[in-house]
Amino acid sequence: MKITGLTVYQCDLPSEHPYWLSGGRLKFDCLDATLVKVETDAGITGWGEGTPWGHTYVPAHGPGIRAGIETMAPFVLGLDPRRVLEVERVMDLALPGHLYAKSPIDMACWDIAGQTAGLPIADLMGGGSRTPARIASSVGAKTAEETRSVMARYRDRGYVAHSVKIGGDVDHDIARIRDVEATKLPGEIILYDVNRGWTRQQALRVMRATDDLGVMFEQPCESLDDIAAIRLLHSVPVSVDETLVTLRDACRIARDGLAEVFGIKLNRVGGLTKAARIRDVALAHGIDMFVMATGGSVLADAEALHLAATIPDPHRLAVWACQDMITAEIAGGRGPHNTDGHLHLPETPGLGVHPDQGALGDPVAIYP
Ligand code: MG
Repeated sequence: MKITGLTVYQCDLPSEHPYWLSGGRLKFDCLDATLVKVETDAGITGWGEGTPWGHTYVPAHGPGIRAGIETMAPFVLGLDPRRVLEVERVMDLALPGHLYAKSPIDMACWDIAGQTAGLPIADLMGGGSRTPARIASSVGAKTAEETRSVMARYRDRGYVAHSVKIGGDVDHDIARIRDVEATKLPGEIILYDVNRGWTRQQALRVMRATDDLGVMFEQPCESLDDIAAIRLLHSVPVSVDETLVTLRDACRIARDGLAEVFGIKLNRVGGLTKAARIRDVALAHGIDMFVMATGGSVLADAEALHLAATIPDPHRLAVWACQDMITAEIAGGRGPHNTDGHLHLPETPGLGVHPDQGALGDPVAIYP
């Protein structure tokens, strides 16, 4: 089987509510999605998506994905898409780095491989847990009152996992954490996501002031060096996501004991093929996981769900789904959708959902 064509679409995904990252930083109201259709000489078509969380969150942006695909397309054409490791190597040679641009092609190849095998991607990868995956909310509120009301809205939809965005003023963060913990329901998983918002001293002050609560923090500081520097000065479980990019990052975090949880972002790390190795490092070191696409449509959520289904249930904390935050519906309502706060693995071979091409408009590029 050979790849005979790549067709690229650009799609705006407006957010339901304007969204602020921790501490009121980085406001978004629309995501720039790139959809890639990969065609083969066997008549099987795969789809991939790359949707960065804006262009100010991490080093990734929509136009960069499309430029990266333009550079890589001549090298990818003619490859067997089922040999995902070969496609990965060819892309890494054609364009070192730029992992976020490779992720949609990798995703489309897994989609084709799954369809060829007659298996959902998660089963093809050797996993395939059918335990419904908890969806983590994304609570971008600012005050304690707003936080309560946003969490109530999510709880009404069945959510039992919450990512509460903090990382502003130290005293304000401490007060909000105490308020959320006071109203936490039994069985809920709550992660306080700092999104790199604290300096080292700010992180230590909040961690020490909330030490009695037994909470966990995600990405408390800007870099792995910052997280390492304060590691022995507190006793709080830490999750790392934005600075978990490469397999080397994963190995360093595991070896040096920098985090107890990985937040694997598929677009950030370059797709399913590379994410699967990071997952294995986590499993080998007793590190639990959150999985998310980074952002995007139901296709991106489906990709994250497939990887999540390859993680043994006790080590999979939650997935994050972007679909509840955007208003665009590019797959006609098909694909894994929120059912009482959970996603169910599609039984359809491959990714399990393809977009309506009519909803995407005209392609922005066709290769060859
Ligand atoms: Mg995070």
